[in-house]
Amino acid sequence: PSTLRENKVEVPDTKWEDIGGLEDTKRDLQEMVRYPIEHRGLFEKFGMEASRGVLFYGPPGCGKTLMAKAIANECGANFISVKGPELLNAWFGGSEANVRDLFDKARAASPCILFFDEIDSIARARGSGGGSSETSDRVINQILSEIDGIGSGKTLFIIGATNRPDILDPGIMRPGRLDQLIYIPLPDYMSRVSIFKANLRKSPVAEDVTFELLAEVTEGFSGADITEICQRAAKNAIRECIVAEIERRRRVDDGEMTQEEADALPDPV
Ligand code: ATP
Repeated sequence: PSTLRENKVEVPDTKWEDIGGLEDTKRDLQEMVRYPIEHRGLFEKFGMEASRGVLFYGPPGCGKTLMAKAIANECGANFISVKGPELLNAWFGGSEANVRDLFDKARAASPCILFFDEIDSIARARGSGGGSSETSDRVINQILSEIDGIGSGKTLFIIGATNRPDILDPGIMRPGRLDQLIYIPLPDYMSRVSIFKANLRKSPVAEDVTFELLAEVTEGFSGADITEICQRAAKNAIRECIVAEIERRRRVDDGEMTQEEADALPDPV
């Protein structure tokens, strides 16, 4: 039984504001994905084929998945995510019919974004030996023919993500397939400022914290690293609040202060 059938189909709740930096990518994706969904008539009028998909590449943890989800949210499109290795396992010894099922499911959920994470694990150059297997050859061939078969009637957009575009089967990047390569780099200084802001958007932040200083000392960090830092800071802050709360309760219980006095004390962070 394929675990892929259980993959969720839903409009993700990731918003543009959750992503720091990458402003150009956001704009490009809007044009590529949103316009064909919202203005299909115009594309037909001008005999324009909408783009079928893009390939995100770049170092891990810099927002490829986040970006794919946000564009789906922006368009009110469903989102199906499949990881390359998981896909190969599920299909091990199986048939191409399963790939067809996945695309059927995506078409039925149209408009839909179908996201292939770690696509290099299946789309390594065919017949090249190095990591390529008969199973992955069959799977990738079937994926390519499904992409070729996406008619203009259904709005299905494919996004592939990889850290290794160099080892990808060139067939996947042919015109009419994932023909736009979009680089998602390590965040620069300004992007790190935005990522800190995005991550701390819903959290109280001490007055003496400056996002600029945080960005300065995190050169070379990925978005995922920055998220990790923010989460650790939040956990520490929660811990300090809990310790203070316990101490307040103790002082009230010991008669050192009244409940009203305790309630009036500010949180330590
Ligand atoms: P991988 O190649 O490892 O799959 P990825 O590029 O798909 O990585 P994401 O899954 O999008 O990376 O990012 C991982 C986490 O890092 C996100 O859930 C988010 O918390 C944080 N993150 C990464 N990039 C950004 C960003 N630009 N803005 C805000 N948060 C980010």
